[in-house]
Amino acid sequence: MHITANMGLDESEEAAMALTLPPKWFSFAAADGLIDALFPPSCPACRDETATGHSLCRACWAETAFLSGRGCATCGREIPGLGGGRAGPPQDFHCDTCQAHPPRWDRGAAVFAYEGAGRRLVLGLKHGDRLDMLEMLAGWMLRAGKPLLAGADLVIPVPMHWTRRLSRRFNQSAELARAVCRAAGRAEAFAPALLRRTRRTASQDGRNRAGRTENLKGAIGLAPGAEARIAGRRLLLVDDVLTTGATLNAVAAVCRQAGASAVDILVLALVSFDEAPYLRSA
Ligand SMILES: [Zn+2]
Ligand SMILES: [Zn+2]
Repeated sequence: MHITANMGLDESEEAAMALTLPPKWFSFAAADGLIDALFPPSCPACRDETATGHSLCRACWAETAFLSGRGCATCGREIPGLGGGRAGPPQDFHCDTCQAHPPRWDRGAAVFAYEGAGRRLVLGLKHGDRLDMLEMLAGWMLRAGKPLLAGADLVIPVPMHWTRRLSRRFNQSAELARAVCRAAGRAEAFAPALLRRTRRTASQDGRNRAGRTENLKGAIGLAPGAEARIAGRRLLLVDDVLTTGATLNAVAAVCRQAGASAVDILVLALVSFDEAPYLRSA
């Protein structure tokens, strides 16, 4: 194409441009108003109308159990009486569960507890019907995991088996990781293709810690050429929910084997063992 005063467009290109550009009478503000009238902004957790899009309604906001960031250094869990105080626990504090079952990753952070509105947000994202909330969730994850992200060379989502991605249409962990990298201005760190699920695993629901670990045995593998990119690098693994950590442990183990120099985790929601005590110890 020649670069001239008229941008070097030939007639057919100009005609194509005219079709893609809005006409002169078009007003973006009016279009936004029209879209809002047709699809009023709604709360991603309960679908009630909200004044602005991409934010929770007042009730869901109050119902979301945000974590203080002063809990366990490995998993982010808060210990009543320790995590909520002004000073919080010491920086290297580890919860009982992490001491009893040391995870294969180094440090971890989470945004909120998997309950109430937080649970509804996770489910909405998982089923892909509220992708408009990704930006909001990524902003929260960025705030919770800022030091972890700052030290990471690569941000890696927990992989999903390709057959599941086909039926679900997308991998929510990958979309969260992509959005977090974008929000942090670290798009280059997003590395979604280094790991893969080598087989489709059955649901983890109803399984205890040992059952979950067994279910994932050998299910995570490296993509061709991934070892060279992982060796000597600091990784941040991203997932939507942390329950016993069986999945993230399986992923972290593969990354360590490939020579990662550090492996941290950042998740959206933490399952409380108070609601499912069988997950705590077994
Ligand atoms: Zn709501
Ligand atoms: Zn912990």
